[in-house]
Amino acid sequence: MSAPSDTGSTQLGAGVNSVVIVGGGTSGWMCAAAIARMAPPDTSITLVESEEVGVIGVGEATIPPLIEFNEFLGLDENDFLRECQGTFKLGIEFVDWFKLGDRYFHPFGFYGRDTPEFAFHQLWLRLKALSDEGEAPADLPGEISQYNLCAVAARLGRFSPPQGGGDAILSTMRHAYHFDAMRYGRMLRRYAEQRGVRRVEGLVERVEQHPDHGTIQSVTLRCGEVLAGDLFIDCSGFRSLLIEGAMGSDFVDWSHYLPCDRAIALPTTGSGAPDPFTRATADRAGWRWRIPLQARTGNGYVYSSAFVDEGEVHRRLVEGAEGEALADPRPLRFRTGHRRAFWKKNCVAIGLAGGFIEPLESTSIHLTQMGIQRLINLWPGRGCNPAEIAHYNRVMTSDYERVRDFIVLHYSATERDDTAFWRYVGNMEIPDTLAEKLEIFRGSGRVIPSPEDLFTPHSWLAVMLGQGVGPRTYDALVDRVPESTLIHNMGLLREAVGKTAAALPAHQDYIRRYCASDNGLRESSGG
Ligand SMILES: Cc1cc2nc3c(=O)[nH]c(=O)nc-3n(C[C@H](O)[C@H](O)[C@H](O)COP(=O)(O)OP(=O)(O)OC[C@H]3O[C@@H](n4cnc5c(N)ncnc54)[C@H](O)[C@@H]3O)c2cc1C
Repeated sequence: MSAPSDTGSTQLGAGVNSVVIVGGGTSGWMCAAAIARMAPPDTSITLVESEEVGVIGVGEATIPPLIEFNEFLGLDENDFLRECQGTFKLGIEFVDWFKLGDRYFHPFGFYGRDTPEFAFHQLWLRLKALSDEGEAPADLPGEISQYNLCAVAARLGRFSPPQGGGDAILSTMRHAYHFDAMRYGRMLRRYAEQRGVRRVEGLVERVEQHPDHGTIQSVTLRCGEVLAGDLFIDCSGFRSLLIEGAMGSDFVDWSHYLPCDRAIALPTTGSGAPDPFTRATADRAGWRWRIPLQARTGNGYVYSSAFVDEGEVHRRLVEGAEGEALADPRPLRFRTGHRRAFWKKNCVAIGLAGGFIEPLESTSIHLTQMGIQRLINLWPGRGCNPAEIAHYNRVMTSDYERVRDFIVLHYSATERDDTAFWRYVGNMEIPDTLAEKLEIFRGSGRVIPSPEDLFTPHSWLAVMLGQGVGPRTYDALVDRVPESTLIHNMGLLREAVGKTAAALPAHQDYIRRYCASDNGLRESSGG
């Protein structure tokens, strides 16, 4: 190990030869696996975790970029799904969010096809206007989700990975996973240990810092073992042991935008064929999740403790869950927001230690992935460069803010006023960045992508339309398309999407054929 330089903030370490990761949840093992995959062979990587503290253990729904992370590690998709009892996810069904009795789907993938001149949805908006005026067939254009293969396939319970290129409708398929996070952690641990990562079981009790410039030199475990390192990665979950405890990075609190601060998780037996989508059902003071895995269903209730008590949530969760309970309901607490500095001196916080935005759009593991990816891109092999640290903190903050805006949209654009919770979120102040996006969309339906926006314009469109945010009109340039061509082509496209989806294998059959786990779909479900 090389000693940290004492030249102060301009040179925070003479080079990274040894890395200490504190925490062995999903984030810790994702970091360990990714760093083991890319670090020079003589880099020493140690991960310390404490069984006494345990891991949070939830985090079962993902978004498509996890595919790239697994590919980076060289994990085979079918092996991964088999081992983690995973299923495929094509999007999220939102129930009762805009108003009671209403539902909409936020699919992955694309609506129709954008052209160099127009976004597809502008054509859809124009046809809708024509149809409303009686100048186009009443059944056209129909719901915009009918032009998205993931949405139609999800409704039919069908799945296939993308295939073909160019104009092939099947090339527009996008998927993510539902999986058992504990199993994923074990899989990554095996991967990392096979590549030389040393795992230490123990409780970190003390953090030693350089007396002059405050870089972390070592952590000391309760048993007395000292783990020294050049770079420390804080994956200690909500405890934020290093980034807050030692480095004093304060917390940017977003609970005024996102008041949910508690959850109760409850796994139940699966009931029939697993749906290839997550369901998020809005409830009196929060929402319930339903995540179908191969061998069980993950259920949970996310709520605001300011508006409802735990007893009522517990009751509503148990009443609403399908199947038999497989464990006692598990209460969890969280705070929405992030560390002002994710990276300070020679300490980087990744995962829950860095921040958390409630799980409505399954973005937490993705933000971990972004933290790792950006750290690898700026790998401080020859020392921590303050300009690079500042850049890292800026772009990570932007990642979190863009996700925050997207999640806030689901709450703020609601017509529900049946409880104090919905009245609060429906009237609360929203971030300026979101307000601007909505104002632009309300004009002529334009969705302007922000830099570092994880969610594509198609995702924004799905949720804005689903939440009843309608544009006053459409892009005037679309009037150049002859009406008859528009009607003809939209009809053909909708039909092609429907036919393609109907020809796909059933989701359950696909899993049985390629990636059934031993105690998953192979034997558990006849449905
Ligand atoms: C209600 C809820 C639902 C969620 N749903 C999703 C979802 O659907 N999709 C998604 O992407 N994400 C979801 N998440 C987030 C997801 O659970 C986390 O991103 C993921 O589990 C990673 O957590 P972590 O590894 O950062 O922290 P943890 O799992 O909490 O791990 C912390 C680690 O630090 C160790 N540790 C702590 N203190 C010490 C110490 N003193 N000494 C030694 N070791 C220590 C612990 O032993 C543990 O190994 C959800 C979160 C919540 C709260």
